[in-house]
Amino acid sequence: MKKIVSLFSLLLVLLVSNNCYGEVESLKERIAQLEERVAQLEAKIAASSEIFTPIERGHSDRMFPLGNNWYYSTSNGERDEYIEEVFAALFSEFIRIFGEEAMSHKPVTIYNVPGAASPMAIPLGKTMRIRLVQNSTGFWAQLVYQLSHEMTHYMFFSYFPHADQGNYGEVDDKEKSSWNEEIICEAMSLYMLKYMSDNWEKCALSKINPAFNSALKEYLDNEYKRTKNLPLKSEGDAVPFGDFHARFNRTTNDLDNHITERNYLYDLFVSTNAETIGEIGNMYKHYNKEYRYIDYASWIKAANNPDFIKKISAIQPRLSCLPSTSGFRLLQEPVTTCNVSQPSISSRTH
Ligand SMILES: [Zn+2]
Repeated sequence: MKKIVSLFSLLLVLLVSNNCYGEVESLKERIAQLEERVAQLEAKIAASSEIFTPIERGHSDRMFPLGNNWYYSTSNGERDEYIEEVFAALFSEFIRIFGEEAMSHKPVTIYNVPGAASPMAIPLGKTMRIRLVQNSTGFWAQLVYQLSHEMTHYMFFSYFPHADQGNYGEVDDKEKSSWNEEIICEAMSLYMLKYMSDNWEKCALSKINPAFNSALKEYLDNEYKRTKNLPLKSEGDAVPFGDFHARFNRTTNDLDNHITERNYLYDLFVSTNAETIGEIGNMYKHYNKEYRYIDYASWIKAANNPDFIKKISAIQPRLSCLPSTSGFRLLQEPVTTCNVSQPSISSRTH
């Protein structure tokens, strides 16, 4: 009996040590793989620091890659899990809507400056930076709201004919209308709040707080109900072209002025599919040559989903008359009166 017990013990010891040996070996292998991966990533981080100038890096020496030409930096040089995971979740939806090329056409860095004036997407020649304004990136709903707005601006730069020339190339930024683009970016923010709320389990942060989807929904609802219940401006009187730019270009700091248009567009986005929403990426192909207004008639004609673009056209006020300079085309119908300094559209021959 004693013999059997000791034989059994020996067998057990052999089995255990064999198992441990195998486990230790596979762990060593895994550690070696991870060390190699860390070395690769560090090399990538070092290389990425060469892409951006200090100002583009948000004055941080350390850049963290997010993939597909996207990077971020932090003021303390530490990783920020919140930016990484919110970005990853948003990015997959942005790619689904606008495609990978539109969402990775040039290197871009994200950084947060608490107390700065406003979030902003800043084109800088061959690169771009996105500035967030948060007291903490731990405010996830605000992070979704700000980041998705600026990611939409990034997408527009991929389609903008002068995007690679830095800023707006030959187009004077002050003269360019931001009306349509701003409203679309704002509506995309609401759309992405809804997307994140509906798909919260896909975001890795859901492991930290599984119930955060309701906070995202609440943030969205509070934004949406800021509406003044005013009619769309396109339902009102036609605006003389000369007045459009002066009256309707201050979108950035004047949400109240176009909140009806923003909510209208958000409702339109959630009632359609991702592929159709992606058509908004073509917007800049249909601006007039000075980028003051969209020639929706041209866009509707070229669109895969003309009905969708027709509905989008309701965000731009109707223009009553256009300057006679060549290069301007008739925009919308019906055309009514012009102000005195401009010729009547009815006298135009096309
Ligand atoms: Zn904006």
